[in-house]
Amino acid sequence: MKKRFDVVVIGGGVIGCSIAYYLAKEKIDVAVLEGQQIGQKTTKAAAGMLGAHSEWDQSENFFTFARSSQLTYFHLQEELKELSGIDIELKKGGIFKLAYTELEKMQLDPLLSQTSARWYNRMEIKNQIPDIHPDIIGAAYIEDDVNVLPASVCHAFGKSAQMLGASIFEFSHVLEIQKNDEDFLIKTTNGHFIAKTVVVASGVWSNPFFKQLGIVHELIPVKGECISVRSEKAILKHTLFHKQNYIVPRNDGRLVIGATMVDNEWNENPSLGGIEVLIQKAKKMLPTIADMKIDSFWAGLRPRTLDHKPFIGIHPEDPQILFATGHFRNGILLAPATGKLIRDLILKNKVENTWIEAFKINRSSSV
Ligand SMILES: Cc1cc2nc3c(=O)[nH]c(=O)nc-3n(C[C@H](O)[C@H](O)[C@H](O)COP(=O)(O)OP(=O)(O)OC[C@H]3O[C@@H](n4cnc5c(N)ncnc54)[C@H](O)[C@@H]3O)c2cc1C
Repeated sequence: MKKRFDVVVIGGGVIGCSIAYYLAKEKIDVAVLEGQQIGQKTTKAAAGMLGAHSEWDQSENFFTFARSSQLTYFHLQEELKELSGIDIELKKGGIFKLAYTELEKMQLDPLLSQTSARWYNRMEIKNQIPDIHPDIIGAAYIEDDVNVLPASVCHAFGKSAQMLGASIFEFSHVLEIQKNDEDFLIKTTNGHFIAKTVVVASGVWSNPFFKQLGIVHELIPVKGECISVRSEKAILKHTLFHKQNYIVPRNDGRLVIGATMVDNEWNENPSLGGIEVLIQKAKKMLPTIADMKIDSFWAGLRPRTLDHKPFIGIHPEDPQILFATGHFRNGILLAPATGKLIRDLILKNKVENTWIEAFKINRSSSV
């Protein structure tokens, strides 16, 4: 078995698999080392919203990064399907950000000043969604904030990367990274690997690598719980969103209700209290959801940095070590742009300077 690569990516979530894909496309000899199986951790827990507009103010330079990633998805669907045979299930229909009061409507003004968003009054929403809660006074509608199936995105990136020559090693938990002259020796539960360049993409479990590699950061786990329900008839084509809670329709008729935000919690099991809160919030958006049948429930750990922005960049003292982690609430949305940015940094391609500054490891707002 070959164990020497130009680039080794540690972690096979959506971020690691996207990086492998964009490197393999450039014919770079890349391997992903995944401790368990790809796409089974935080990636699998996500709702899959691509909320470039609904999550950020357009004035933030972060928005341009998020928007470029969102736009990539619109052609990525075909590209990945052709290579991997896997459908990422991009669901059109957009998102309604709901307002129940005049104050909430005013808070939507910055969003509504964007050309991509439009105000719908109560009657207009009712025409689209007859079962909507009667207390809603209106909503901002964003057509481009669609959703995808996160685990399928990860598998499609991984399989496509393999089709282009990348290697994926599952059940290869990385224990230690050692620098030997020009190369890295990577010790795993599946033997030793050698690489010229290492990319840490281990989600919320990146902390031991920060420590080993002399970086003083710590990612904070923010637990999120979700439920999915089924109904006999499809009653929702659009995502409903209110104050970090949402109902996301899937192509197969399921509705995903999410998500709680529990700071500093490492336990990955959903709690009864969390599920209860989700049901209450969902009923306040769509009362008829109470009649639906529970399909499943789960939880995942979002990797949060202090300033809520990811670390995507080069180690301040070693150009052969890169980080792509801390994607918090938006790793699915940001996966394509992150993969491309890491590719460009490794290949020394021209990169948007504002992005380098916003996401660099040694920025002052993150320590
Ligand atoms: C409830 C919930 C809802 C969410 N909804 C959305 C959403 O709608 N839209 C959106 O964009 N984002 C959403 N997110 C956020 C998104 O899921 C994350 O930002 C994203 O999955 C992070 O991906 P990752 O690849 O960094 O991490 P992960 O998916 O956790 O992958 C990291 C991988 O590294 C592996 N690993 C760890 N340590 C090692 C080691 N030592 N050796 C080898 N492998 C290792 C792990 O096994 C894991 O597979 C949501 C998250 C949650 C919890």
